Amino acid sequence: MKTEFSLAQLADPDIAEADKILRACVHCGFCTATCPTYVLLGDELDSPRGRIYLIKEMLEKNRPPTQEVVKHIDRCLSCLACMTTCPSGVNYMHLVDQARARIETDYTRPLAERALRAVLAWVLPRPGLFRASMILARLGRPLAALLPTSKTASPSPTLLRRIKAMLALAPSRLPASGPSGGTTFPPLGARRGRVALLQGCAQQVLAPRINQAAINLLTRHGIEVVLVKDEQCCGALTHHLGRDGDALAAARANITVWLEEAGRGGLDAILVTTSGCGTVIKDYGFMLREDRDFASPAARISALAKDITEYLGGIDLRPSQQQHGDIVVAYHSACSLQHGQKITQLPKELLSKSGFVVKDVPESHLCCGSAGTYNILQPDIASRLRDRKVANIAMVKPDMIAAGNIGCMVQIAGGTSVPVVHTIELLDWATGGAKPGLS
Ligand code: SF4
Ligand code: SF4
Repeated sequence: MKTEFSLAQLADPDIAEADKILRACVHCGFCTATCPTYVLLGDELDSPRGRIYLIKEMLEKNRPPTQEVVKHIDRCLSCLACMTTCPSGVNYMHLVDQARARIETDYTRPLAERALRAVLAWVLPRPGLFRASMILARLGRPLAALLPTSKTASPSPTLLRRIKAMLALAPSRLPASGPSGGTTFPPLGARRGRVALLQGCAQQVLAPRINQAAINLLTRHGIEVVLVKDEQCCGALTHHLGRDGDALAAARANITVWLEEAGRGGLDAILVTTSGCGTVIKDYGFMLREDRDFASPAARISALAKDITEYLGGIDLRPSQQQHGDIVVAYHSACSLQHGQKITQLPKELLSKSGFVVKDVPESHLCCGSAGTYNILQPDIASRLRDRKVANIAMVKPDMIAAGNIGCMVQIAGGTSVPVVHTIELLDWATGGAKPGLS
């Protein structure tokens, strides 16, 4: 794609990066076929190619984002299916990240929407506040029935519709908190390795059982696990809201405490059980590439970050005598894992080797609609995607659904009675741990 940035514009590293990305696009449109919003809405402007044109126009003309641009960028899930499909290697992720940051700084949203986004950006990364908000939301759930429901799914939802979606996501009960930062779990037997385990934000409130399963499995296989003190949210939630100042501050804080921990006791890896977070931590090196003090430490942390399945692929898992041969598991491939991190086969291979009957889900490239805060901000598109995902999962008649991302797990569980578990819970069970209790 031809671009017309001036030399002065190209002096800005972000614009230079956008120019490189835009020039790689050859307008072929292959990406449209796998874009969930284009598949649902059929509007070119809700396709990757359409959005790329909108972003190009906005950046090239150095114009404030228009309402039209904001509408179509907001509808993008950042699922990155387009990046998997693109034959030219267009880095849509870095382009849309830049567009979201530009919208956040140069566009004034309606007051109510600004307030909602500010609340999400403040509450979700703070587990204590998030827990309190979940309790409040649970109490407020009866009110959800009184809020209006649109007769047709709207791609431009009202504030009340979003609040209704938020209340619907609140679980009926919350599990007790898991172990806190600063805790070290020694290995059983001889030590074969030492890792940090990302504590996560929403996950540690909604399902601390996931990291507990990871700790149990790792220590059982001789790996020491540390929950690093003063670790923060990875920044993914604010990054996807375009609040790059907040996201970069969180990244710098984490890099500092992780490197301190590596200096004290050594770290073979920083393991992540929430693939949405893993994709962003692996991108810290890019996000902080212009930061003189943090560019190199950020690149080091990105290299240390691994999805839990990547790490387990490198150690010899020891399945126990328990028999799982008759349990059919539908493997839901989270977008952040399959498109963001290109991890597709490994989780399924680990599950199969552990004795489960693993089934691929039809249309597995399509997002379930969770996408960070998307199911709150775009609840109607998100619900349609969830229903489609659940219908596809039902086709393989599973006993359980496995996924590697808490957002997907909550989203899918909202539409099915089939138990939804994390891949690590099944692997822990298969190697001598408890059967996933789902609480
Ligand atoms: S990230 Fe997903 S929703 Fe956004 S343009 Fe790409 S395929 Fe479409
Ligand atoms: S597939 Fe790639 S090159 Fe083709 S239009 Fe989409 S982003 Fe551009």
